[in-house]
Amino acid sequence: MITRSAVLLFLVGLLLGRPAWATDNTPPEGFVSLFNGKNLLGWKVTTGDNVRALLITGGHEHETSFYSLFDGYKDLGRLPVSSSDIAFQSDLRGKYDVLIMYDFSRDLNETRRKNLRDFVEGGKGIVVLHHALLNYQKWPWWYEDVVGGSYRLQKEGDNPSSSYKGDQQIFVVPEEKHPITAALEPFQAMDETYKNMWLSPRVRPLLITDNPNSDRLLAWIGPCATSRVVAIQLGHGPAIFSKPEYRTMVHNAILWSAGRLK
Ligand SMILES: [Zn+2]
Repeated sequence: MITRSAVLLFLVGLLLGRPAWATDNTPPEGFVSLFNGKNLLGWKVTTGDNVRALLITGGHEHETSFYSLFDGYKDLGRLPVSSSDIAFQSDLRGKYDVLIMYDFSRDLNETRRKNLRDFVEGGKGIVVLHHALLNYQKWPWWYEDVVGGSYRLQKEGDNPSSSYKGDQQIFVVPEEKHPITAALEPFQAMDETYKNMWLSPRVRPLLITDNPNSDRLLAWIGPCATSRVVAIQLGHGPAIFSKPEYRTMVHNAILWSAGRLK
């Protein structure tokens, strides 16, 4: 029952504006906090015609400096952070243009799978970064038809499990001209490499390397028929987060997946 005092309170609320503590799990401007002891929530606001992106983290340790990757871009604007468990509880199609995944989630229940699938089939953008390549090992549609690559946690038939190696000097070379890599020259980076990933023959290569502890492919366009999907293997630690070429790559991937970069 709506009481008169509740209506009054609502009107007073409208007059005063939404208080910072009236939270729906969204932290106020400039706020960065630990959530559930695992997931970092960040929040920043800029003005203008921004890409509506949702950053998904959690389930895997990562450096706080990761969040600095998204600083300083007027076209990214408001960038909320959530976990897959929370985010995929609801239909995201009306709220976001792009999902940036930097989480590790083993599986999703039926409802969450449907919401993620609806987003992908709704022609939205997906950017998969680093350890998010480990996601949804038991969901072939995700890694075969959407992402086009998967870090395998276990040996499967003739395919070995994947491996990683930290602190690698990596010579990164743009593979072909694409709006995402158009302005990039070859560059040296220090980061973690992945080797023996499952990779689809249907991906379009963006970055390659000849580092012996890495797969040749470092970034690619996924084979997804309905959505613009970009996967970038690099992205473990602070050394690469401040690397201008990597920052450009991630920023361009977000813009391209949102249909802003042609
Ligand atoms: Zn890593």
